[in-house]
Amino acid sequence: MDSPSNGYGWAGALPAKQGLYDPTNERDACGVGFIINIKGQVSHKILRDSENLLCNMSHRGATGADSRDGDGAGVMLSMPHRLLSREFLALGCTLPPPGQYSTGNIFTDPNNSECMAHFDAIAEQLGLRVVAWRRVPVNSEILGPTSRSREPAIMQPLVVGDWWEERRFQRQLFVLKKRARHEIGGWFYVCSLDTRIIVYKGQLTPEQVPEYYADLRDAHCETHFALVHSRFSTNTFPSWERAQPFGWCAHNGEINTLRGNKNWMRAREGLLHSKAFSDGDLEKTFPIIDELGSDSAALDSVLELLVVSGVMTMPEAVMVMVPEAWQNNPTMPSAKRAFYEWASCVMEPWDGPALLTFSDGRYCGASLDRNGLRPCRYYITSDDRMICASEVGTVDIDPAMVVEKGRLMPGRMLLVDTREGVVVDDEKLKLQHAQRYPFQQWLDTHQIKISHLAVKDAATVDDQIPVSQDRRMRAFGYSAEFLNLILGPMVQYGKEPLGSMGNDTVLACMDPAPRLPYEYFRELFAQVTNPPIDPIREKIVMSLACHVGPEGNLLEISDCQAHRLSLDSPLLTKPELAAIRGMSARYPEWVSHTIDITFAAADGVDGYRRALDRVCEEAQVAIDRGAKILILSDTMVGAERVALSALLAAGAVHHHLVATKLRAKVALLVETGEAREVHHFCVLIGYGVDAICPYMVYETIAKLHRENVLPDKPVAQLIGQFRSAVDDGFRKVMSKMGISTLQSYKGAQIFEALGVASDVIDKCFVGTASRVQGTTLEGFAADALTRHDNAYGLPGAIATIGDEGEYNWRKVGSKHINTPGAISSLQDAVRTKNKASWLKYTEASQQSIQDCTLRGLLEIHADESQAIPVEEVEPWTNIVKRFCTGAMSYGSISKEAHTALAVAMNRLGGKSNSGEGGEDPERSIPRANGDSERSAIKQVASGRFGVTSNYLADADELQIKMAQGAKAGEGGELLGTKVSSEIAKTRHTTPGVTLVSPPPHHDIYSIEDLKQLIFDLKSANHRARISVKLVSEVGIGVVASGVVKALADHILVAGHDGGTGAARWTGIKYAGLPWELGLAETHQTLVLNDLRGRVVLQTDGQLKTARDVAIAAMLGAEEFGFATTPLITLGCVYLRRCHQNNCAVGVATQDPVLRAKFRGQPEHVINFFYYLAEDLREIMASLGIRSINELVGRTEFLRTTPGYHFDKGGLDLGLLLKPAHEMRPGVATYSVIKQDHQIESRLDSRLLPELLESLRTGRPAEVATEICNTDRAVGAILSYHLSVAHGLEGLPQGTVRLHLRGSAGQSLGAFLAPGIAIDLEGDANDYVGKGLSGGQIVVYPPRASTFDSHVNVIVGNVCLFGATSGEAFIGGIAAERFAVRNSGALAVVEGVGDHGCEYMTGGRVVVLGNVGRNFAAGMSGGLAYVLAEGFEDMCNKESVDLETVHGDEALWLKQTIQRHADLTGSKHARRVVDRFSGLLPKFVKVFPRDYKRVLAQESANINVPVEPQLPKPVVSEVVDIEDALVDESLLSDRVQNLDKLRGFAKYRRRGDKYRSAKKRTTDWDEISTRQTKSQLQVQAARCIDCGVPFCQSDVDGCPIGNVIPKWNELVYKNQWRDAFDRLMATNNFPEFTGRVCPAPCEGACVAGISELPVAIKSIEAAIIDHAWDMGWMRPVPPVRRSGWRVAVVGSGPAGLSAADQLNSAGYLVTVYEREDRIGGLLTYGIPNMKLDKRLVERRVDKMAKEGVEFVTGAHIGVTHSAADLLSSFDAVLLATGATWPRDLSIEGRQLEGVHFAMDFLTDSTKSLLSKRGGILAAGKRVVVIGGGDTGNDCIGTSVRQGAASVTNFELLPQPPRERAADNPWPQYPRVYRIDYGHEEVISRWGKDPRIYSISAKRFLGNSRGHLCGIETVRVQWTREAGRWSMEEVEGSKEVVEADLVFLAMGFLGPENKVIEELGVRQGPRSNVETGEGSYRTSVEKVFAAGDCRRGQSLVVWGINEGRMAASEMDTWLRNKQMACDQSRLIN
Ligand code: SF4
Ligand code: SF4
Repeated sequence: MDSPSNGYGWAGALPAKQGLYDPTNERDACGVGFIINIKGQVSHKILRDSENLLCNMSHRGATGADSRDGDGAGVMLSMPHRLLSREFLALGCTLPPPGQYSTGNIFTDPNNSECMAHFDAIAEQLGLRVVAWRRVPVNSEILGPTSRSREPAIMQPLVVGDWWEERRFQRQLFVLKKRARHEIGGWFYVCSLDTRIIVYKGQLTPEQVPEYYADLRDAHCETHFALVHSRFSTNTFPSWERAQPFGWCAHNGEINTLRGNKNWMRAREGLLHSKAFSDGDLEKTFPIIDELGSDSAALDSVLELLVVSGVMTMPEAVMVMVPEAWQNNPTMPSAKRAFYEWASCVMEPWDGPALLTFSDGRYCGASLDRNGLRPCRYYITSDDRMICASEVGTVDIDPAMVVEKGRLMPGRMLLVDTREGVVVDDEKLKLQHAQRYPFQQWLDTHQIKISHLAVKDAATVDDQIPVSQDRRMRAFGYSAEFLNLILGPMVQYGKEPLGSMGNDTVLACMDPAPRLPYEYFRELFAQVTNPPIDPIREKIVMSLACHVGPEGNLLEISDCQAHRLSLDSPLLTKPELAAIRGMSARYPEWVSHTIDITFAAADGVDGYRRALDRVCEEAQVAIDRGAKILILSDTMVGAERVALSALLAAGAVHHHLVATKLRAKVALLVETGEAREVHHFCVLIGYGVDAICPYMVYETIAKLHRENVLPDKPVAQLIGQFRSAVDDGFRKVMSKMGISTLQSYKGAQIFEALGVASDVIDKCFVGTASRVQGTTLEGFAADALTRHDNAYGLPGAIATIGDEGEYNWRKVGSKHINTPGAISSLQDAVRTKNKASWLKYTEASQQSIQDCTLRGLLEIHADESQAIPVEEVEPWTNIVKRFCTGAMSYGSISKEAHTALAVAMNRLGGKSNSGEGGEDPERSIPRANGDSERSAIKQVASGRFGVTSNYLADADELQIKMAQGAKAGEGGELLGTKVSSEIAKTRHTTPGVTLVSPPPHHDIYSIEDLKQLIFDLKSANHRARISVKLVSEVGIGVVASGVVKALADHILVAGHDGGTGAARWTGIKYAGLPWELGLAETHQTLVLNDLRGRVVLQTDGQLKTARDVAIAAMLGAEEFGFATTPLITLGCVYLRRCHQNNCAVGVATQDPVLRAKFRGQPEHVINFFYYLAEDLREIMASLGIRSINELVGRTEFLRTTPGYHFDKGGLDLGLLLKPAHEMRPGVATYSVIKQDHQIESRLDSRLLPELLESLRTGRPAEVATEICNTDRAVGAILSYHLSVAHGLEGLPQGTVRLHLRGSAGQSLGAFLAPGIAIDLEGDANDYVGKGLSGGQIVVYPPRASTFDSHVNVIVGNVCLFGATSGEAFIGGIAAERFAVRNSGALAVVEGVGDHGCEYMTGGRVVVLGNVGRNFAAGMSGGLAYVLAEGFEDMCNKESVDLETVHGDEALWLKQTIQRHADLTGSKHARRVVDRFSGLLPKFVKVFPRDYKRVLAQESANINVPVEPQLPKPVVSEVVDIEDALVDESLLSDRVQNLDKLRGFAKYRRRGDKYRSAKKRTTDWDEISTRQTKSQLQVQAARCIDCGVPFCQSDVDGCPIGNVIPKWNELVYKNQWRDAFDRLMATNNFPEFTGRVCPAPCEGACVAGISELPVAIKSIEAAIIDHAWDMGWMRPVPPVRRSGWRVAVVGSGPAGLSAADQLNSAGYLVTVYEREDRIGGLLTYGIPNMKLDKRLVERRVDKMAKEGVEFVTGAHIGVTHSAADLLSSFDAVLLATGATWPRDLSIEGRQLEGVHFAMDFLTDSTKSLLSKRGGILAAGKRVVVIGGGDTGNDCIGTSVRQGAASVTNFELLPQPPRERAADNPWPQYPRVYRIDYGHEEVISRWGKDPRIYSISAKRFLGNSRGHLCGIETVRVQWTREAGRWSMEEVEGSKEVVEADLVFLAMGFLGPENKVIEELGVRQGPRSNVETGEGSYRTSVEKVFAAGDCRRGQSLVVWGINEGRMAASEMDTWLRNKQMACDQSRLIN
């Protein structure tokens, strides 16, 4: 046997931390119970009965690979004095009387007796004596190999004292036990050591417990109670000590707040003192909680401390540690409330699902958590026994002896006092304790409430600085996106806004840009082993209140413990904080101390660490000096002072104070400008902060209000809305982890850090998992300094705070996985099977994966010598069978998209997933062409939409959704706008009503409940694979192990970034982790447990390319899921508007109008998977891998990309890459065997031979049989066979009848199909009628029973969950959560527990007795009729009305109750029928308001003949507001109510209007007129604000990356100034681009896919024109000049924009222009009617005033020496443009009248500006050769000059009127359009000037050498193999008369005088050569930008080039010589 080595678990049996496996994550769940003689009479029979109790719950536990290896089981009993007397006598010892000695079982090293000697010695030091050691006889033969490998020697010490005083003896035993644990450790574990009880346990199966321990079989072993426990562990490792019961209790549940409880207990140790303990003894028991022990063990330790110290009785201690939900319960007696409130001052609740059974020998009891998340049922018999357990039916009891059947209710306690011989009533018991002291008086006297303090109305904002100028906002990292997307909605609606499509943004730890520390933290969430709770419907159990400030001594009960400051919420206003800061004025001892958490900027990075140390030190000193309140404040931030992150500072202080045991002495508050989002606040509280005052948010709200950005309401009200949104956010985040109270959440550290280095963790976040290392303290410091520099380092006016692109993609901003380039290339690739586009897609995707994800840092490392031919790799048709599409429900996406996915996957042999929304059965009928629309995977989520027996029977895979990537820990959410009548029908709900799915806790509380659901589903369809969907988070490996042990066939590990569903942004962004971590951890842990071979592992989450798939396989997956990418192939463009029902491409909408726009085809999906599989084969071939199975888990093919480096701290993926097959060699590493579900042994299977024929043919049949609690899901297998044969309709009711007697196991009648009827005489456990699908269930008490049915519990929790139809008659009370999410069943029951009819959407429920709290919460359909006392108080009336019953309904009700009485024999029901008319007024009808509305609508329509039609379109027909309203004042009124959601489809596009062609050709004024502001608001409302705004993509959209959606939003909101700021941030010259840009942005606009694009250019022009009009465009010279000089050669767009940028950065800029005016192309290349030259002059003037020097007539290289320039400037920029025109060298070219177009345009403008002549078109026949803008400008200019005719030759054919196939969106559309010049010619001469496909052969001249005509020929274009070729059309020659020809055929390159003189290298096309992505030329100091570098292009490209070049020059100059303090980035 190995010796203990690693300290983990019993005898080091748990494997040490390795790879991503961490033994501290181990989890378990259990079955518990006890049997007791109430009068305390001992007997051996009790022990015998307890065996049944234990063994009949064995299905709740689990076994390892060998069925003899149990997970752990045990029993606690009263000290068996008779047995022990005999046994110790045999050892020569006579026992003292019972109670005066102690013994217990101790696990010890069989080969080492020294431990016992050590134990003896400690005992002696404590005044105790170990008189003897008894070896406990055991039967080791029965153990499995695993448990045997660590089997201990089990010894019993006989401990006595030489004195006798019971309490002291107990305390010394406690100290002995603790010291032995601390001092001996290793193989030494004390199961119990007490005077009255003893625990026998081990790593055993329940059946093995009595077999293993001979004592338990010995008839001398007598006890008055036996408390049992069977464990379900998530691992397969030997773990003797984790078996339960512990010394005092047994626990079925999970303490979610364990980390916090441990930390707080540790902190409290500093305050613990007790006179009861001898000197120093108490301290020797520290730490009270064993760091490596389980949550249950920790709870047991604290419980023991409280009881042993004598301060509390056991029931009291349980009340303090696991209190009931007292805060929101007005019906609770005030004394009890006061007790709980006092208790909350003493200790935070140990929160989480918990059924706690406990005993100290006298009392034996059970207590249930506040949510009632564990089942607990009991019987009391006439012979004074109580049997209490997780299930009924575990012990055989004669029904006639049962006098009471009950269940433990949420928060309640069940207690037997064996000394008194009574069952103590919960109410009485608690009241008795509550009245022990005057708790209320203590609270009144000592508790301080915020209302007691002088909270003044302080001004919220003290300065006049506008938001856009507030430098602090930049210093704290605020973004415009936060203000608009997050803060605005929170303030306006009091709710955090929703988002959708997951989180595809770069991980904070991989972002080179500064990120806040909060963004590294991921919220953990409950999955499988513990349930999340429902923060909406079950808000009543939640509380944000908590007490702060010094705690008292836990080991006493006193009034001063109430002396704490009580807060209702942890978010403080500024006045509240001020009041707390000054509270010592009223409470002198409450001294506050504010610690400045800023440091001097000059101290740099080192200053950060020093400041953190200083803050911790100051905190400690302040406490030593008596401070009771510490306030960490960053208000001193400013130009000279940088703020520490409030999170790092608070975390460091909290942990420093925990370690020094000072934390419990002080309140820790934070006053910060940094924290602003819900997540930020949660992280602060999670790391121990008591309260937060986010002053900067409040000031921002006040400023935004002052600037009229927020609604006109009092600021206090707006702040109130914000706080309310944050409070909801707290609840949501807490609930995800199943935590109910903020007090428990505080300091619980429910986070994983992603990418934080251990130096930071160890200092600030001790105990937090951070598995890939990452950003160091220096990294965080550097980020803080960068942010500070951005705010205070800029010399001039500060820029607008940025739009960081954190939520939506932005060209300049955070990286995202989904980019416009990748999306458009993918769509093109799959639509046209274009391999080139596919390659572009993979290239773009791989780049973004590399930028954003962990796998991006990995490289596939192929050894060339191992490569094999690709033909040897399995075919793509095999590979695609491992692919499936994600669970996107019908409802969230359209029917068209949903069915396209299904058809595609069915054709491929892969699988599509129904999602949780159900599926129309029609889709199972194959289409005429053989296609199937059926989803092979049917998902079952806690919403249970449309889950019927038929639905389940029709699946190949049934997937249980435990969590989803997009919002782990939350339920689904479908807004009412998407619940069309079709969707409502499929989901069995009410149209138009928002559906919020409950989180998965209503029927899955723990691993054992999941096991049950797997059992149920396997029964409902034994053919189907059962899958469990999990989401990546730390600990998923052990959870997955438990899931495999629960017999799942398949596990999906989803990543945090995928998913389409709607959720609050906090959930989307901060819950869950990358799948890489989750998958690798799962694979490693399963291999380590030898469980991997039993399950198929799948992953999903933004899988994009074959490389992703290969990496997923290498990390352990053998199947792969894809959600967003297939959706993109079908047309999704990542609008992120899925939840709003306005998807412009018909993918994620139910709106018929938008659905009609869907263009996706199954072929597109198929093409995607084909390409993907083929690429994967290539990768596999390169690795020498032939099949996917060979690739699974082969991390040796992966390595971190060589040379990768992050400045902030490297990520270490070593744990991820640890090969699992090395962790446990020789075991399976992929699925090799199937799970054994033992279908054949189920009761249904045994009945099947008798019933199968009837199920198939419909011939009636009946069977009768006994049933017991191990017979589970009875009826489900029968239902499967019936559904397969008869579909949804089933058979006539009662065709097959089962008559059962006994106690039914869980899930009786689950998914019972129509035609099957079950009647049960007896009782049943949980889940009766789960998913009832048309069958009938009748349950009634045994006929022999004597109790009253309506006061006794007969069925368990969660009955009728998700029932869709059928009937249930329950002759007794149902426990908690009855008929939750019932959507169609009829049920009659005689009483229900809490949360009855919650989320119900249909059906009818009759309750003939009392109900628990929260009845009807979230009920939106169906009806309930309740006859209960005090019902109003119990009903949650948020969504229902309470009415009386009358008329036909009353008759129906009476008949239904009569039926119930007949079927169940209920006397109570019969009495109700007999007295019906008298009782009728007492019946309350619960009528959901939504349902009422629908019924009213239906009845209003009943007499109106209605044409069958599609649901009314939500989007109305296109309305042009302006057409209807010409009056601007009216229009501006109307625009207040613009619909921006659907504006793109609702309002007509309107671009700038041109003046009439006739009129405008008579002058040279600009052709276009601006729209009014209101008109432009309408246009801006057409902008969808896309998640991926293609308009600003540099691939196809705006080259300059204008943040178009942002200014659209601002214009829409009439915020023109902000829009102007936003526009100027990216574009220096919008007045130019707004006029002359061909607007590729509009070509790429998403609205243009199905409608006309947004009029972006018009809005742009209007914003800047308005700014000039308003005087906002004023010269702003730079504040500081660097003294450095830069020359710019050329003054076109590139030259001017570079000059503007460089000048504003402080350089001295001189611009040289060879012409007589500045502007280049802008002045002379573009005619005045397109761009008025006054605008250019105005701009140039402004720049000159700002300090730019302009030199005209300076032709560098000709009039000025380039060399001189080089020597007199520090840098030179060439921006000379591409001015070398393409010529047409044909005969006659030399003739007079043949000109280059640019010469003509230049002359024309010169003549206009200077009245100087030149080329004139007046009276001439003009031919323009060449199109484009220049050609068109020549046409317009010729018309104005008075040409006699104008003709335009185009060599190319006429473009199509719509996009051609090779010109897909979002490319610039090459379509036929009429430009202004064409229109003018048409207006003048009646025909379009353009002649297409014409070629000029020669120019013809007259005798004067002047042009007179052109000989032309027509050409024909053909395309072959993708290439166009041209040939002349024979006989088509003709002559076109002409006097003037303008050659407008583009430009060949730059004019090269200056280039040659400088010797700058040129490229093959004569452009200036620079490095890729660079603007530096081959000559030092010389840069180039614009057309001279990139060739002829658009003005906007020129501007972009100038900006980029300026940025590079700035960096170059700074790097070269500038001092750091002058540095600035310009962009
Ligand atoms: S500069 Fe051109 S592409 Fe960019 S937003 Fe303006 S019009 Fe569109
Ligand atoms: S302008 Fe077009 S592409 Fe850009 S955000 Fe608006 S709708 Fe989307």
